[in-house]
Amino acid sequence: MNNSMVKTPMPSQDPNVRNGNFQEVALGYTEEMAVSEAQRCLNCKNKPCVSGCPVNVRIPEFVAKVAEGDFEAAYEIITSTNSLPAICGRVCPQETQCEGKCVRGIKGEPVGVGRLERFVADWHREHQEKAEAAPSEKSGNSDKRVAVVGSGPAGLACAGDLINMGYDVTVFESLHKEGGVLVYGIPEFMFSKQKAAYEIDNLKAKGVKFIKDVVIGKSLNVDDLFDEGYKAVFVGTGAGLPRFMNIEGENLVGVYSANEYLTRINLMKAYRDEYDTPIKKHKKVAVVGGGNVAMDAARCAKRMGADVHVIYRRGRDEMPARAEEIEHAEEEGIIFHLLNNPVRILGDDKNEVEKVECIKMELGEPDASGRRRPVPVEGSEFTIDVDAVIMALGTRLNSLICDTTEGLDQNDRGGIKIDEENNACTRPGVFAGGDAVTGAATVIKAMGAGKKAAAGIDAYLHK
Ligand code: FAD
Ligand code: SF4
Repeated sequence: MNNSMVKTPMPSQDPNVRNGNFQEVALGYTEEMAVSEAQRCLNCKNKPCVSGCPVNVRIPEFVAKVAEGDFEAAYEIITSTNSLPAICGRVCPQETQCEGKCVRGIKGEPVGVGRLERFVADWHREHQEKAEAAPSEKSGNSDKRVAVVGSGPAGLACAGDLINMGYDVTVFESLHKEGGVLVYGIPEFMFSKQKAAYEIDNLKAKGVKFIKDVVIGKSLNVDDLFDEGYKAVFVGTGAGLPRFMNIEGENLVGVYSANEYLTRINLMKAYRDEYDTPIKKHKKVAVVGGGNVAMDAARCAKRMGADVHVIYRRGRDEMPARAEEIEHAEEEGIIFHLLNNPVRILGDDKNEVEKVECIKMELGEPDASGRRRPVPVEGSEFTIDVDAVIMALGTRLNSLICDTTEGLDQNDRGGIKIDEENNACTRPGVFAGGDAVTGAATVIKAMGAGKKAAAGIDAYLHK
C-alpha cells in the first residue's frame, strides 16, 4: 500500500520547450511509477470510481493488476468495456468522472486512474508486435450487414462492439482519414495520432471495413444503404457545425472557427514544412471561449509562434475546459482575459483583422445552466491588437442526414432524436449516438453511446 496523499507525478516536457513543438506534453509513467500509483488504490468494496465512468471500466480490478505488475491482465480488464484506452487515458475529464468519485480524493488527490489507463494501453502497445487478431468465434451474425456513419469515437465504439458480435460492419466516413475529432480536432500534443491509428488498425484487423470520402446525405443517403442490403444503420456524425457570435467583423480575413483552424493544423499538418496546407503564421491571436476546444486552439496558435490571448466571458472557476488543460495553457505562456467578451472585430484597409474590441463583464444571477450569468459592464470597452481571432464557442449538429432521411426526427437541442433505452431513432432500423445526438460532449460519452447503440442494433436484428 502506498499512503501518499498525492498522485505519483507524471513526467512532462518543460513548458518553455513544449510550447514550441507539437510532441506530446505528458510523457507517461514508467513501470515503477505505475505500480507505485496503483498501490494507492484502496480497492473499495462499493467502487464509486466505476459509477463515475460512462463505460463502467472495472477500475479497482485493473488497478489491482497494475499494482501486481500484471499489465497485460490490466489491459484485458480495461478493454472488456473500453476499446480506446490509450485515448481515454489522455483526454477523458477524469476529474469529473472516475477520479471525481475516488475515495482517496476526499483527503488528498484521487488515484490517477487516467494516468494508469494510459500507461496500461501504452505498455500493451509497446509489447505487442502487430494489431490484434480477428475474434475467432462468430455468432451467426456474419450475414447481417450494418452500416456505421462517421468514424469518430461513437462510430468506432459501435463498430467495435458489432464486429465482436460477429456482424459484417462497414464504416462510412466523409473525410479522407478515420477518427473524427480524435484526428481532426484534438491536437497531436494531447496524444499522438498514431494511438488513434493503432486503435483503428485493430478494428480493421477484426474485419471492420472503412469507406472514406463518402458523405452520407450527399454521395449516398440512408435509404441507399438499406437498398444496398444493410439491415441497420448507426449515425455517429458528430456535431461539426461551428457557432459564431454574430458580431461585426466576423467575416474579416483572419477570423477562423476553432474547427477550421484545428483541422488545418491537426489533420492537414499545416505546421509541417513538407505539407502544402496553407495557414498564416499569425503574430498575436485572440481565442474566444473557455472550453477544451479553446484551450487546444490557443495552445496550437502558441506553437505556431503567436502571442495568444484567451478571451472568456466568465471567470476561471466557470471555465468548462479540463483543469489540466487550463494549467498547461497557463504554464505555456497563454494570456487569459477572464470576464471579458468581444463586441466587434476591427479590420485594416485590406479587410484583415487588426483589433478586437471587448467589454468587461461581471457575474450576475445564475442562468438556466446553473452558472452565474455574465453581464456587460457599461462603458468598459477596450481593444486588443491582434491579427487573428479564433472562435471556439461550441458546435452543433449538421442536419444533412436528418434532412435527407425520411422519418428521422430531431430533438429539441437540434440533435438526432433517439430512444434513450437503446439509441433507436424515429426511423426503424436507424440508431444514433455521440455528439450527433447530444451536441458537443466528450469522447467517453460518445463511446458509451456507440456501445449502447450496438446493443440496441443487436436486439433489433434478433427481434
Ligand atoms: P466526431 O468525433 O465528431 O466524429 C464524427 C465523424 O463523422 C467525423 O469523422 C465526421 O467527418 C464524420 N461525418 C460527419 N458527417 C458525415 C456524413 N454525412 N457522412 C459520413 N461521415 C460524416 N472530449 C474529451 O473527452 N476530452 C477532450 O480533451 C476533448 N477535446 C476536444 C477538443 C476539440 C478541438 C474538439 C472539437 C472536441 C473535443 N472533445 C473532447 C469532444 C470529443 O472529441 C467529442 O465529444 C467526440 O469526438 C464526439 O464523438 P462522435 O463520434 O460523436 O463525433
Ligand atoms: Fe481505488 Fe479510488 Fe476506486 Fe476506491 S474509489 S477503488 S481508491 S480508484
